[in-house]
Amino acid sequence: MIDVINQDITTLEVDAIVNAANQTLLGGGGVDGAIHRAAGPELLEFCRHLGGCPVGEARISPGFRLSANWVIHTVGPVWRGGHEGEAALLENCYENSFRLAIEHRIRSIAFPAISTGVYGYPFGKAAFIAVSVMRRYEARFERIVACCFSRADAECYGELLASDA
Ligand code: ADP
Repeated sequence: MIDVINQDITTLEVDAIVNAANQTLLGGGGVDGAIHRAAGPELLEFCRHLGGCPVGEARISPGFRLSANWVIHTVGPVWRGGHEGEAALLENCYENSFRLAIEHRIRSIAFPAISTGVYGYPFGKAAFIAVSVMRRYEARFERIVACCFSRADAECYGELLASDA
């Protein structure tokens, strides 16, 4: 099942939430900052030992003070106009997050709209990629959540999921 919700991802009761991190994995603004605040300083301490993460890849940590048991940190591409491999890199973020989730027997997972904030990826294009990969993995999870942070964003996912695209 793929659910679309409009909520703060740090409040969700799922096995894993995905963090739209940066390459340092040492915290930042947006959803990354919110996750670090909610998980507590233990998360930063853990992430220091991960040694960063290249764009398109993913790393896993415990959720510490979050309801979620796990945080999967992935680094989305910065949008530079669409001709610098951004789409393939964003697809890799979702793919690699799902692969890590399967390795850790995670059954429910929530994603923010990776790269669509400070990294500037046009929302509709990013959501199209997110939904395509979510559909590929739908049968292997109890619940996949597309966690949006505005009603307009949630409507965009809703329309994509209602279509055959
Ligand atoms: P990026 O650097 O990958 O663009 P951002 O954190 O700036 O990451 O934004 C990614 C998406 O996360 C945006 O759509 C933004 O609205 C959303 N977002 C920000 N805070 C939260 C939150 N607490 N819960 C869910 N989504 C959030």
